[in-house]
Amino acid sequence: MRAASRVFSGLGTTIFTTMSALAAEHGAINLGQGFPDDEGPDDIRAVAAKAIMDGPNQYPPMMGMPQLRRAVAAANKRFYGLDIDWQSEVMVTSGATEALADCLIGLLNPGDEAILIEPAYDSYRPIIEAVGAKVVTVALEPPHWSLPLDGLEAAFSDRTKLILLNSPMNPTGKVFSRAELDAIAALMIRHDAYAVCDEVYEHLVFSGAAHIPLMTLPGMRERCLRIGSAGKTFSLTGWRIGYITGPANLMAPVAKTHQFVTFTTPPPLQLAIAWGLEQDDAYFAQLASSLQAKRDRLAQGLAAAGLDVLPTDGTYFISADFRSLLKNKEGFNGSDDEFCREITVKAKVSAIPVSAFYADPAKAPQHLARFCFCKQDAVLDDASARLKAYAKGQGG
Ligand code: PMP
Ligand code: GLN
Repeated sequence: MRAASRVFSGLGTTIFTTMSALAAEHGAINLGQGFPDDEGPDDIRAVAAKAIMDGPNQYPPMMGMPQLRRAVAAANKRFYGLDIDWQSEVMVTSGATEALADCLIGLLNPGDEAILIEPAYDSYRPIIEAVGAKVVTVALEPPHWSLPLDGLEAAFSDRTKLILLNSPMNPTGKVFSRAELDAIAALMIRHDAYAVCDEVYEHLVFSGAAHIPLMTLPGMRERCLRIGSAGKTFSLTGWRIGYITGPANLMAPVAKTHQFVTFTTPPPLQLAIAWGLEQDDAYFAQLASSLQAKRDRLAQGLAAAGLDVLPTDGTYFISADFRSLLKNKEGFNGSDDEFCREITVKAKVSAIPVSAFYADPAKAPQHLARFCFCKQDAVLDDASARLKAYAKGQGG
């Protein structure tokens, strides 16, 4: 038999699917894969239900429903002051996952280099490698996840086509600072590079932190493709609606990719998300403040269980260092992958090992687990209590 794609046949099942399956098998509370444990907002779902009955239900325009493209352009203006032409500079995709693939396939040629900042979301690398481009990584430094500017500079070369920037960042909860964005922008200009900006958590940012799209910095408007996700912004991860904002000349090849990947995305859902994006600022602020309270609730529960919780300024996620459970050398003493499996089976709470976000396990931290907090309060409390009981059994 002829071999299939080297990149994809060598890949395992994603860590998110793997841990969700393990959680289900052991009846564990699933704080692994990032998704809210409710059905999402009633009002947006009501708009979608009506749109399914009233139509349209046939192929929408390839770039997306005009209502949603206009709403995305208006949201860019309202939240970030960006002037965007909705017709040539906005495209709707089937989730940010498709948007990422479209951008990478649309921009990269074989032999180009693409910079990833580790820990990095798992879908980036395989797409880059499948088109024959090379991944160059720069690793953030835990526990503060600072960006090493010398390492960043060393990652750029005259073959750098793009950098992939995820802010607010999964799994760290880091929101990149203005100074870090300035440094990235300066290197992009020096090396004539683009940025694919994964900003799916743009509205899930907590007090004290501010999300600044790289695209708003001087010289960046023409170099950035900015990706949003209705799944995250409206707690509807199963709907698969994403959107890309970018200059028309970059959008053109990205749209050519989209036309042969999914071509379009369900029009009634697009209309409902357009309605959502038109809601007032309080609508967005309410989601962020409710998530912030959940972050604090789970942080307290994890700390009470004896875990060393790292700060998180955005996203659905909080990381914890579990070496603190190793009191009197009796507690857990394995890798992060082993820890996440152990607590799934024994504590009946599952999490994601942070090392899964690194290509080379030898370079990854082995002592951090990522917990998802976009769950009902009672579920978070139950998970904390289970972890506390587990830790107690460990001598912690
Ligand atoms: N980027 C990051 C950093 C994510 O965490 C996720 C999903 N959790 C995605 C992209 C994909 O988003 P979507 O569900 O809209 O495809
Ligand atoms: N991005 C989600 C997470 O980090 C998972 C999405 C997926 O399973 N593909 O948990």
